[in-house]
Amino acid sequence: MKKDSCNVCSSPLGTPLYESADNASITTMNKVIEGRTRVFFCDRCGHLQTSELPDLARYYAEEYAINLASDEDDQLYKVVDGKPVYRAAHQAATALAKLALRPGQTVLDYGCAKAPTLKRMVAAVPGIVPMTFDVTDKYVGFWDAFVARQNQAVGAPAAHWRGTVDVVLSFYALEHVADLQEALAAVRALLRPGGMFYFIVPNVYANIADFVVADHINHFSAASIGAMLARHGFRAESIDDAAHDAAFVVVARQDDAASAGAEAGAGLPPGGEVAASRQRCVEMGRFWGNAATAIRAFEASHPEPARLAIYGAGFYGNFIASSLARPARVECFVDQNRHLQGRQMFDRPIVAPDQLPPAIDAVLVGLNPRVARSIIGEVTAWRNRGLDLFFLEAT
Ligand SMILES: [Zn+2]
Repeated sequence: MKKDSCNVCSSPLGTPLYESADNASITTMNKVIEGRTRVFFCDRCGHLQTSELPDLARYYAEEYAINLASDEDDQLYKVVDGKPVYRAAHQAATALAKLALRPGQTVLDYGCAKAPTLKRMVAAVPGIVPMTFDVTDKYVGFWDAFVARQNQAVGAPAAHWRGTVDVVLSFYALEHVADLQEALAAVRALLRPGGMFYFIVPNVYANIADFVVADHINHFSAASIGAMLARHGFRAESIDDAAHDAAFVVVARQDDAASAGAEAGAGLPPGGEVAASRQRCVEMGRFWGNAATAIRAFEASHPEPARLAIYGAGFYGNFIASSLARPARVECFVDQNRHLQGRQMFDRPIVAPDQLPPAIDAVLVGLNPRVARSIIGEVTAWRNRGLDLFFLEAT
């Protein structure tokens, strides 16, 4: 049992940088699960790591059904010039630009679920040979639309694939994986000599919410990605923090020379770079630690009969509700997303901003602190209401 050692470089981890105040943690799917979030920083490779909560296995089992029902193709990535760009489409365009695929090359989406990104890549470069692998057979119906049966695998990759694949793709998977040694070795074994490993993981340095989500146990830095790749016989060709919002897009090549160097600890970042990352992680931990304290102070300064609401039915709003001494005081959540309005959170309705009940006195704003004040400033219906507002403040 390798408890509290670094997932990337196996160094022992010291005391946590951050520990959540309560015995409850929030996941990316906005579910509250039992257990305290503990976040550690590795001073050897610059990796930031969250301890796995015992309840994570059950969480994954339950979320499974939800993921199968939802359509990943509909996840909005960004609105550009008034037109929606969906996540899978952006991921496909980015991968195609970076990989310069040629007809005849085999491209394996590893742990792919419905593989919506690979499907778009095949549509753009019809000659490539798509391959799919996932631990469950639930997605075979989706794969059959564009992947030959002999290029599909369930449970484990097919034995005869070893050493043959030109490109392995992985979208938002490694942040969930405790055993990175096993995962990287498995990918490396599938690739032909000189084959490419292309992956995307979240960048906590660009989205502070990633610091506290309970199911992201790995929070990579460019340095820890480089260390991980070197250790497993890959040469990093590109670690890009700009191609995808709040993410690292990584292109790596299987390289036997890199493998030899890994024995001598090659790929570890210089101490100064690690110290700078540590400082930023300490500040993020302080932000979240102060956030819970400030939320409770605001709550205490508005005792009953003051009536409370929370703006934001996403991660930040959930964090605020979970931090309150008495979450039951929240009468409703406010959100501009029409798909959320009419639903419930914490057994309370989610309403549009202009539907905020007139009796509400104070609103705690659960939005990314970088944009929260400007978003609230644009809510015309609230301008003359004299609401007491609480904002999370950036450090
Ligand atoms: Zn490490």
